[in-house]
Amino acid sequence: MITMIKGFLQRLNDGEAIIIAEGFMWELERKGYVKFGEYTPEVVLNNPEVVRIMHEEYAHAGSDVVEAFTYLGNRKRLRAIGIEEGLEELNRRALRMAREVADVTGSLMAGDISHTWYYQPEDPKAMEELRAMFKEQIEWAVDEKADYIIGETFQDFGEAMIALEMIQKYGNGLPAVITLTAYQPDVMLDGVPIPEACKRLEDAGAAVVGLNCARGPKTMLPLLKEIRKVCKGPLAAIPVPFRCRGKYKTFQSLLDPDTGDRLYPDNLSAQLCTRREVREFAEEAKALGVQYIGLCCGNSPAFFREVTDVYGRTTGATKYTPDFTNSLSRSTDPKNKKIQSYMFDPVE
Ligand SMILES: [Zn+2]
Repeated sequence: MITMIKGFLQRLNDGEAIIIAEGFMWELERKGYVKFGEYTPEVVLNNPEVVRIMHEEYAHAGSDVVEAFTYLGNRKRLRAIGIEEGLEELNRRALRMAREVADVTGSLMAGDISHTWYYQPEDPKAMEELRAMFKEQIEWAVDEKADYIIGETFQDFGEAMIALEMIQKYGNGLPAVITLTAYQPDVMLDGVPIPEACKRLEDAGAAVVGLNCARGPKTMLPLLKEIRKVCKGPLAAIPVPFRCRGKYKTFQSLLDPDTGDRLYPDNLSAQLCTRREVREFAEEAKALGVQYIGLCCGNSPAFFREVTDVYGRTTGATKYTPDFTNSLSRSTDPKNKKIQSYMFDPVE
């Protein structure tokens, strides 16, 4: 089934929300196909079928967008792990697969470039290479028929700005979504306050600006309110579903409540949000008028369904929303009292 779907900009202009699943690296690590510490999308070459299934699962749970899994799939990063020769194939395969799933599920397809780990503004040669890395990834995304291009997880304002410029230069007119990563301070690594960074990206022509990764729902939304004060256009909120709060604004900073050990990245399940918390986030974001919403690292289709439900969507996964009518654990029938007591009542 190929569905004619409403274009990206048209939806935004009509005030509709775009709901996007992200966090692929973490979801595939959880399934055993990605290595923490390397964080590369090699799985696209080694086990493409699991990437395709993940895209299908998120479309089933209501994602409006299939984002090509090319995060950190840039030349220097792949060179560092010894697979530079597979660069173009990895990017094209990821894009093609995303396009195919998008066409079958009636979704949009987004190309993806990200922070590179190679932003060195004091080194002109390195900056030339950075531009070339963005250029080739953007051109592949255009070639493989992306509907728009995402530049994500930027920690330096300068790198985000270059990404936007390169999308505008080589993206064949495709819209750009630029999302920044806020760590503990509300300031980019290169010193630009984050609301100002968003404003400058919006003024420079990004269709959507906002935040992704690092912060949880409770620590991302207050900053987003500051961004709302200076930006007029659509805003993005794509937090990690972890219990960041207070002075622990990022998931990198979270500690194990039992041991006090740092949890990032492989033991963060100790501070995972509940579905209810994800739902509350979606409700708050909706009330704030967030038009481009999703979840980053730690996302799962069950979390994602909470977001799509709050935004009023009925999806393939909707009919499997929990329903405890026939559940023993929540039964009010007196004959289940004994087993419920065995299940629930604390014992010394
Ligand atoms: Zn993330």
